[in-house]
Amino acid sequence: MSAGPGPAAEVDVAVVGAGLAGLRCARVLADAGLHVEVLEAADRVGGRMRTDEVDGHLLDRGFQLLNPAYPAVRRWVDVPALGLQPFPAGVAAATERGTVRLGDPRRAPGLLAPSALTGARRLREVVPLLRWVAPLLRPRAQGLAERLRATRPTRSLRAALDDLGARGDLRRVLEAFLSGVVLDREGATDERVALLLVRSFLDGSPSLPAGGMQALPAQLAQDLTVHLDTPVEVLEPGGLRTAAGSVRARAVVVATDQLASATLLDRAPGTDRGVVTHWWSAEVGSLPATGGLLHVDARPRPTGPVANTAVVSQAAPSYSPDGRALVQASVVLDHRGVVPEATVRRHAAELLGTSAAGWQELARHEVPHALPSATPPHDLRRPTRVRPGLHVCGDHRDTPSIQGALVSGDRAARAVLAELRAAR
Ligand SMILES: Cc1cc2nc3c(=O)[nH]c(=O)nc-3n(C[C@H](O)[C@H](O)[C@H](O)COP(=O)(O)OP(=O)(O)OC[C@H]3O[C@@H](n4cnc5c(N)ncnc54)[C@H](O)[C@@H]3O)c2cc1C
Repeated sequence: MSAGPGPAAEVDVAVVGAGLAGLRCARVLADAGLHVEVLEAADRVGGRMRTDEVDGHLLDRGFQLLNPAYPAVRRWVDVPALGLQPFPAGVAAATERGTVRLGDPRRAPGLLAPSALTGARRLREVVPLLRWVAPLLRPRAQGLAERLRATRPTRSLRAALDDLGARGDLRRVLEAFLSGVVLDREGATDERVALLLVRSFLDGSPSLPAGGMQALPAQLAQDLTVHLDTPVEVLEPGGLRTAAGSVRARAVVVATDQLASATLLDRAPGTDRGVVTHWWSAEVGSLPATGGLLHVDARPRPTGPVANTAVVSQAAPSYSPDGRALVQASVVLDHRGVVPEATVRRHAAELLGTSAAGWQELARHEVPHALPSATPPHDLRRPTRVRPGLHVCGDHRDTPSIQGALVSGDRAARAVLAELRAAR
């Protein structure tokens, strides 16, 4: 990554925001030989993907995982260079019959435990869910988003599962797991977004890079010109303005989060979903061996607010120093507001089957605008061209995910290229 004293007065394309979408967009345009500069308000690249080191532990700004099976990651990321540390392909869920461990039988056969089979694998529970995931069971799910767009109506996850007659433990496990992924406890998310995420979990093991999630945007920013601490104040005809002055550009791409993009484009903002992640350090020997498995509460009446918890360092050893373990618990941030740390700690320890005595709090990350909410009617591929010379990208144009952010940046770049070629 390089940056001169400040943005050039004139460029081919100015990209606003150095999150995944902006970085992917800038890469495509730079590879096409254009003079591209990225203007970023923060002091680092990565946007919502940011890692801090606290007492030798790596803490991402909100627990998140990178799925190497995302098609965009396979295509555009040097995955081996990230040194990925995979999490188990499954989930441990507290149910009324005790804790069941469910997983992808192809990759984690040990996780489909007998307790789950006798208790939950009854036909009336399994069949509706198999019908729900039917589009994912084809050998290759290439073009799945397009297929879902063409074949499935836009309806909420809850409505889809109700319509299929899904109920019981298995449905609750699915809902509990997905609530921590889409940060939605009501099942209000578009079922097609949920299906796309389930597809990625079936295809690959969610992982953490050895250097923290920030290693991903750091890699994407290599060799690009990025100006940090350079917020764009306003878009102008033929360019934009920062505190340092105006930049003239043949095209501007607004690659910010949806709130900032609504401000810059003078549009009504969409709604977001939030999360609070708590991080604790614990003695290695004080925790049960879970392999980093995600634990969720799938009981009809959960005993606390935790959406998911895990001993992160058991899957990702680089996240904690020798002798220490790193525990996270994430709580969906909704109208109920922020929950006291002691309540979260107690629930997390209960789900993990251990005591929280001796856990040291490292940080609490409150991320109110973590994900755009993808409620129906939700367009899986929103247009990226605003008007000639002005484009927009970000996870709010596709799906609220790493995949969605990267694809939207790529789409916007290709639209810019087509426009600039046509103008020649
Ligand atoms: C806690 C959390 C957990 C998540 N978990 C997962 C997960 O497990 N799997 C998954 O696939 N996805 C997950 N996500 C989502 C994923 O991180 C995002 O979808 C993706 O990082 C969004 O990238 P983006 O480029 O669209 O936006 P952003 O990362 O928001 O980037 C926008 C950039 O624009 C900059 N900016 C804003 N205003 C201006 C301005 N005026 N001038 C200049 N710059 C500006 C911002 O500083 C920022 O750097 C999670 C997100 C969070 C927060």
